[in-house]
Parts: sequence; structure tokens; C-alpha cells
Amino acid sequence: MSAESLTLTILGSGTSTGIPVIGCNCPVCCSADPRDRRTRCSALLSFGQKRILIDTATDLRQQLLREKVTRIDAVLYTHIHADHLHGIDDLRAFTLRGETAIPLYGSASTLSSIRHNFPYIFDPADEPGYIPLLKTCPVAERFEVCDLAIIPVPLLHGKMKVYGYRIGPLAYLTDCNQVPKSSLDLLRGIEYLVIDGLRLTPHQTHFNLSQAVAMAQLIGSRKTWLTHLSHEIDHARHERELPPGVSLAYDGLKIEFAPPGPQVAAGDRTR
Ligand SMILES: [Zn+2]
Ligand SMILES: [Zn+2]
Ligand SMILES: [Zn+2]
Repeated sequence: MSAESLTLTILGSGTSTGIPVIGCNCPVCCSADPRDRRTRCSALLSFGQKRILIDTATDLRQQLLREKVTRIDAVLYTHIHADHLHGIDDLRAFTLRGETAIPLYGSASTLSSIRHNFPYIFDPADEPGYIPLLKTCPVAERFEVCDLAIIPVPLLHGKMKVYGYRIGPLAYLTDCNQVPKSSLDLLRGIEYLVIDGLRLTPHQTHFNLSQAVAMAQLIGSRKTWLTHLSHEIDHARHERELPPGVSLAYDGLKIEFAPPGPQVAAGDRTR
């Protein structure tokens, strides 16, 4: 891959249960279409040799094996729900050889909750052992990782404040049912959008399919993919019903896009 382009890989496109849902015999859970098999929601940004995760989903191990990922340079956290966080232990694979700590980015409250939930990782004096080497880096506005400019986009997921992330012309907005006006301003001019479109019926903390389509139209993205999908969504059937420019995400989908300005385009990014 050249340093001139970035790729966002959808590692997981499923809602918190994963699809198939344990014990469910519905047509989508029994579907033979591989796009209806959805692991928990996370994504991977790749550029040059660099690899940045968005969330550490419950299925992270399977996702990283599938995509043959051999390094992680940073993690961007959206929020602390288990489906987005509980693969955190699988980051051990990348720090066992004594490399420097992997930086975790997110809001101050998300990161302090992660520290609280996993004290054995962040306070190893308590329990030395087989832990990932991680450091927390709270962010509230534009920051850079591996010379790549990233903008946190505050969203509402029910009452919970979560982050989406904008990287140049692409925004990744999972787990939300409201985009505040100030965040719409942060999304101005994006071309590519990945957004929560959970299911057909309304939900208290997620956009459903029609709300996600309406939000994409308001944001004005040229190409949109809906993610965090439940077993109400039959990939082949429901994708046909979406307006032009809107598709359903699926595990393994790769979205290639141009870097945000000159930061990434110039020079060798390898360390
Ligand atoms: Zn979720
Ligand atoms: Zn089902
Ligand atoms: Zn959530």
C-alpha cells in the first residue's frame, strides 16, 4: 500500500450480539450470505506501514487474524460499551516483545472508565503478569497520530456522550442516535461516511436505517455505509432498498480514501 492513500477496513459490522445471534434461527442468522455474518463493531485505519484501530471489539482476535494485522500503532476509542472495548486484552500480542506502549485515544471520561474497568492493565503493581502495555491519551479536539490529523466528533448514544472520528474526507460515527449541531460543523465537507444504522425499527440509543439515511443526507456525504447492523437487516434484500450512494457495511469491507492534506502524503511513514 502506498503512503498516498488510506484504507478504512470494517473489521466488524455487527451490533453488540454479533450475527448470528446465539440461539436464533431467523432467516438472517441462518443466511448463507457471508455479508450477513457480522462480528462486533470495530475498524482499522491503514496507511503506509501504520495501523490504527477504532475500538477493540469483543471479536478483535478473530478480526485481526482474518485481516493479517501484525502491528497496532494506536487505538481510538468511541465509548466503553463492552462490544467496543472488551477485545482490549488482545492488544497484548503487539506489546509482548517489549515495544513502547500503545497509545489509547478517547474522551477523558471514556479513558478514565477504561482505567477503572481494567485496573490490572493500568496499575500492574497490583497484579504483575501477562498484560498489554498501554497508555491513555485524552483528546477533546483535533490531534495527530503518526502524523495523521484526526478530529473527535462528539455524538449522543442515548444519554451517553461518545466520540465519532473524522479523518480528512471520511467520518466514522458508530453508536449514536443524535449528532449535535456543533458536530455537524465538524463534519462539513466530508465525502465518505460510516454511520450507525442498527435495524429497521426505532431504538432509544441508535439510529435506525431510515434515520441513518436521513442523517447522511443532512451531512451530505457522497458515499455512505451503514454499520452496527442487527439481524433485522438482510444484506442483499435491504441494500436494494437504499437510496443511491448508501450501502450496508460488511465485515472485511475496505474503503480507500485520500489523506487529509499534506501530513500523510509526504515522505516515508515507517518507523
Ligand atoms: Zn455498540
Ligand atoms: Zn436472528
Ligand atoms: Zn454502544
